[in-house]
Amino acid sequence: MSLLSIDRDLTRDSYYVATAPRLEAYAPLQEHLSADVAIVGAGLAGLSAAIELAQTGRKVVVLEAGLVGGGASGRNGGQAIHGLACDQSEIESQLGLADAKRVWAMSLEALDILQQRCAEHSIDADWQPGFLSLATNEKKAAELRQWQQRMAEVYDYPLQWISPQDIGAWIASPRFTAGVHDPRSGHLHPLKYCLGLAAAAQKLGVRLCEQSAVTRIDEGEGQVLTLHTASGQLRAQQVLLAGNVYLPEVAPQLAPQLGARIMPVGTYIVCSEAMDAARCQALIPSRSAVCDTNFILDYFRPTADHRLLYGGRVSYSTMSPRSVKDSMHRNLLRSFPQLSDLGMQFAWGGFVDITMNRAPDFGRLGRARNIYYLQGFSGHGLALTGLAGRVAAEAMQGDSERFDVFAKLRHQPFPGGKLFRMPALVLGMLYYRLKDML
Ligand SMILES: Cc1cc2nc3c(=O)[nH]c(=O)nc-3n(C[C@H](O)[C@H](O)[C@H](O)COP(=O)(O)OP(=O)(O)OC[C@H]3O[C@@H](n4cnc5c(N)ncnc54)[C@H](O)[C@@H]3O)c2cc1C
Repeated sequence: MSLLSIDRDLTRDSYYVATAPRLEAYAPLQEHLSADVAIVGAGLAGLSAAIELAQTGRKVVVLEAGLVGGGASGRNGGQAIHGLACDQSEIESQLGLADAKRVWAMSLEALDILQQRCAEHSIDADWQPGFLSLATNEKKAAELRQWQQRMAEVYDYPLQWISPQDIGAWIASPRFTAGVHDPRSGHLHPLKYCLGLAAAAQKLGVRLCEQSAVTRIDEGEGQVLTLHTASGQLRAQQVLLAGNVYLPEVAPQLAPQLGARIMPVGTYIVCSEAMDAARCQALIPSRSAVCDTNFILDYFRPTADHRLLYGGRVSYSTMSPRSVKDSMHRNLLRSFPQLSDLGMQFAWGGFVDITMNRAPDFGRLGRARNIYYLQGFSGHGLALTGLAGRVAAEAMQGDSERFDVFAKLRHQPFPGGKLFRMPALVLGMLYYRLKDML
């Protein structure tokens, strides 16, 4: 089975689709058009760049292979968290402390962008502040404490320490030993947010085309690029590729070198029936989003309508597990055994675009270096895509200083080529799964 057909199966039973009506349909591209900028992919990265560019008067067209928010952006865990998927130490070792601090500050700007856009464009996406990072044993608690102290000292980012004595007041679970709380991070309904951004982009004059997969880009005379879909053509001076793991699948010839730098990794979510509001509140009294600190992590949060949305489990084989619902339900009960009477109403999943070092991968391609790309959010892109779109838009308008901080990050292709990289990674993951248990 191809990644795209597994992916289609994985979206069928999504809480988000059931609770965010699609009020707009965007007609496919069926003519020959010209624009200043063509954006491939109407996820959060593409839409963020579209909004930024349209606000400065650029003519922007977004081409989307499926539906707006139909990729990772409309089905993720909804957790908008500080930082990147990799630890700051990876950024420090590659760029030095000064640039690592800039990257950290930009990750906080990403959180602000999210809230500013909700306010500016009247998007009600159920924003709830608060994020808990929790350790599942004493060793991990000590590591988390060390990290929390360093973040305060070096990055001037104080997080509240939750000691083993206090943990019971923060979460009604026997699984967690200690943790940290961040009031600035939080969670929301990602599909409501994504659809709201698309509507805002359209109001700003952006032309959005769904069911318009870009299959080829021709580099013509001068700087002009021509994008081809099944029923239309778009000529543009600049292109932004924001296609996530789908890009190499939909159009392998677009950027063959990009596909090797990311690996599609499946991750799965269940969402419970609605609970009595007080019962839901008692699970996580602060209503924060929660992640454990394991390498293969569980992430969960209460929804605005008092359900528990619980994600985790990864699959490196791009094979959908036979019963996502049952296995994720078991994970949920490990954290909250008291919920054994609660039914699971929804189960879905998707693929994250991990890089070897889990740092994001931004850059430029093409003869005239006018094809920009954003990928490699490694499961940590809900907020960061907003910043990524902003810095890509800045670069497209001649100020590439902030984009280049990210573009300087070095990335290795996954070893083993398309055929053997999966087995190699599965072995690697087994090692980390064992480490998580220690
Ligand atoms: C199950 C799951 C849980 C997650 N949980 C979290 C979380 O809690 N917190 C967090 O920070 N991150 C999370 N993530 C990651 C986060 O969702 C992503 O990093 C982010 O949404 C990536 O946005 P994007 O715009 O790059 O990609 P996408 O949203 O995937 O959008 C890419 C779009 O490009 C389109 N496309 C691709 N190729 C073409 C083409 N050739 N022509 C036209 N269109 C094309 C696709 O159809 C797709 O709609 C999760 C991801 C998943 C799958």
